[in-house]
Amino acid sequence: MDRKDLKERFTRYFNEHESEMIEDLKTLCRIDSVRGAYEAGKPFGEGPYNALMTAMGMCERYGMRTANYDDYVIAADLSDKERQLDILAHMDVVAPGEGWTVTEPFDPIVKDGRIYGRGTSDDKGPAIAALYAMRAVKELSVPLSKSCRLILGSDEECGMSDVKHYYAVESEAPMTFSPDSEFPVTNVEKGQFRMDITSEFEEEETEKMLLELCGGTTINIVPGRAYAIIKGLDDDLIRDEAKKVSERTGVSFSISAASNGLRIDAEGQSAHAAHPDDGKNAALALLELVNILPLTECRQTRLLKELGRLFPYGDNRGQALGMAVEDELSGPTTVSADIIEVKPGYISLKADSRTAVAATEENTVKPAETTIREAGFELKKTVKGSHVVDGDSDFIRTLLECYEDVKGVKGHLVSTGGSTYVHDLKNGVAFGAVGEFTDTNMHGPDEFMIIDELKEAAVIYALSISELCR
Ligand SMILES: [Zn+2]
Repeated sequence: MDRKDLKERFTRYFNEHESEMIEDLKTLCRIDSVRGAYEAGKPFGEGPYNALMTAMGMCERYGMRTANYDDYVIAADLSDKERQLDILAHMDVVAPGEGWTVTEPFDPIVKDGRIYGRGTSDDKGPAIAALYAMRAVKELSVPLSKSCRLILGSDEECGMSDVKHYYAVESEAPMTFSPDSEFPVTNVEKGQFRMDITSEFEEEETEKMLLELCGGTTINIVPGRAYAIIKGLDDDLIRDEAKKVSERTGVSFSISAASNGLRIDAEGQSAHAAHPDDGKNAALALLELVNILPLTECRQTRLLKELGRLFPYGDNRGQALGMAVEDELSGPTTVSADIIEVKPGYISLKADSRTAVAATEENTVKPAETTIREAGFELKKTVKGSHVVDGDSDFIRTLLECYEDVKGVKGHLVSTGGSTYVHDLKNGVAFGAVGEFTDTNMHGPDEFMIIDELKEAAVIYALSISELCR
């Protein structure tokens, strides 16, 4: 069978099995598999466990041989031949959050060619596309000399301890793709450098002082809001300075009375830390404003000026930290200051940097560390290298060809600032299942998957399995 033949047979297969596929996806999406508390035999709580076991039952029903890795991960093998390809997806979901309008988060429905519900696109839908791809290859008796394994995890969203558990006892297949992203192929993931910067010092009571500054709650989100409390200053003066900072940054400020002084609220725009240019960092704009106010000179004001020098508003590349690096493969290093907390005698800033492939200890970590320490702060750090898979390999070329055949558009390689399931694998890439230009509200309210895209993904995966395991 050549690829064109196969494509037609698979397309027909998924058209015939569409309603069955949707029913299976609904079954998985009805399970609230947000991470819960540990229980014996349920390492991530009831929900992720139930989703994992339900998916395992489906794999068995469709003729796969399954294995359970201590209820962290299940695996389903297409055959007992030598394993060539792993497909890595996950059954846990992020919390439903607020603002659902089309349906309740765990009551999946089909509407206007889409299926709505938590997990429909991240990642239960793509997992179903992969499972049905394996099922189709099996039921259509595509002749293969090698095997493919579906690996389903249950802790992707909160630390990926599931796959660590799996790979502690299993080796990676010669090739792995993860349908937990978008098409076409993401073969480059930046590294990550997290900075936890603090200073503790003797608290001084002065006449005009900052009592409190708070912005951000999550380490990988640009803070869209921040506030400060200041005593001893006139509100008109603050308002004048705020206007100037607002014009420069686009962050708006409002001033109100607080029991112990004046409260300044800053409103910018939150964004993912991997894309700080999409946001307006309210905490950094507020820090800039505080630093131009005529506060009484003291240790705190000096340290805050230093902090503002290290993290000036709009420096999303780490210029001031001396760690701005970029390359063609991954683009520039980004830096996002995500959580700032200032109290009398205490200053803390947590930053999340996604480092370019060209970033090294020498050109990134060391200069930042030196700059931060010289400014009078302590630094705790975590550093993770980047992930690159050769875009010219047979593996990647085959994935792109299968994608192009089905979608009828030119494929290309993508680099991301995010870190996925395959980050620590030697030969793993992200591959679909969401269309390149589709925003499925993953992690937000009204998450959905376009049903035609789900079927197309299944065809692409079935073709890829057929080619790679031929
Ligand atoms: Zn995911």
